[in-house]
Amino acid sequence: MMQLIRGFKDILPDEIHLWQHIELTARKLFENFGFTEIRPPLLEKTDLFKRSIGEDTDIVEKEMYTFADRKGDSVTLRPEATASVVRSYIQHKMYAQDPVRKLYTIGPMFRRERPQKGRYRQFYQINAEVFGIESPLIDAQLIFMLVKLFENLSVSDMATHINSLGCPECRPGFKKALTEYLLPKKESLCENCKNRIDRNPLRVLDCKVPSCREALEAPPEITSYLCRECSLHFDKVQTVLSDHGVSYKVDKQLVRGLDYYTRTTFEIQTTSLGAQSAIAGGGRYDGLVEALGGPPQPAIGFAIGFDRLVEISTLKSEDIATKGIAKRPDVFLVPLGDECTAMAGKWAGELSLAGIRTEIDFSGRSLKSLMKRADRLNARHVLIVGENELNQEAAVLRNMKTREQTEIPFDSLVESIKKQIQHQ
Ligand code: AMP
Repeated sequence: MMQLIRGFKDILPDEIHLWQHIELTARKLFENFGFTEIRPPLLEKTDLFKRSIGEDTDIVEKEMYTFADRKGDSVTLRPEATASVVRSYIQHKMYAQDPVRKLYTIGPMFRRERPQKGRYRQFYQINAEVFGIESPLIDAQLIFMLVKLFENLSVSDMATHINSLGCPECRPGFKKALTEYLLPKKESLCENCKNRIDRNPLRVLDCKVPSCREALEAPPEITSYLCRECSLHFDKVQTVLSDHGVSYKVDKQLVRGLDYYTRTTFEIQTTSLGAQSAIAGGGRYDGLVEALGGPPQPAIGFAIGFDRLVEISTLKSEDIATKGIAKRPDVFLVPLGDECTAMAGKWAGELSLAGIRTEIDFSGRSLKSLMKRADRLNARHVLIVGENELNQEAAVLRNMKTREQTEIPFDSLVESIKKQIQHQ
């Protein structure tokens, strides 16, 4: 038997309503906040990710699905979406008329991490990115929108963590202090962190290995090193978040793995997922548009872990069904015999086009077995047409809940069914 690849999964028809419900809720909310959708390709030149995410990151070092295409060019299945959205913003000169753009995208990402609950090699993200706004008000508004999305989706167990990573002006001072603090502890750190001290010491703060967490004790805090502008920016984000009624925690160890972040960084965490506690993360990346060849433009964005959101959602398929999102047939057509089946096949098309969710059985099996199938499909109504009905030129519509039966004349079939369904 063929099996799917480790770390990959099928999202099955039974689960899809929850995915669709989350996706629709996000789309609606984001569009009300002025976002429009963008769909970049899944495959990009490897260099794009190397340059934007940074060579010294786990993603670029060991997690990317990179291969040479048939001409030998190195291409990569995207491990995250921001780089592609920035590339597109620059390539299509979206900044030319009005640098402010609010874009969102939903789709799969690929990282060859060690699979476990909440961590897959193909996983889905919902991303939002804002270009061209420097004001801290947008940082707060974006976090507000993210928190509201989770509230709308009945996620109750969540905490918002925020931090500032400073800017190219003030971060070097902090990096230096941190490196000096870490060097004497080098022997107690994990192998990865030993390498990180020189290359990317901030990431040691983020390491989940228990011995590293213990060794860290009381590292220098980035907020004490922020320059005046970064400090004012961070203060303003906090004031506005409080004005918006968003509760948050300043988490000085929150650094996130990607190189291009500046100033505000944030993460939404939950305790319902064990080790994989982050359900969304994001932050400012004011230098990235310019670094990838565009004009200097500030930017900020976030990525939600769609799979994790589905896993912690307290909305279950039954709830969604009662909200009318899950699909069941309005009418299940039960034709008996060849002549009736051909006629019903034509009606099925007309009913579907008239906005009625229609299912038909072409198997030619007995009335009894087709009624059983109607029950299995949870059909609201069954339309029966057999020899008697053919003679009388009227089919029988049965309401499966009340068991009430109505005659439906052939010549006004679609209209009559529509009326019947709307009345119930
Ligand atoms: P990142 O792009 O690493 O900042 O991740 C943003 C969000 O995507 C995280 O908070 C997770 O919820 C989710 N995520 C990241 N990696 C994975 C993965 N391998 N499997 C499932 N979700 C993931």
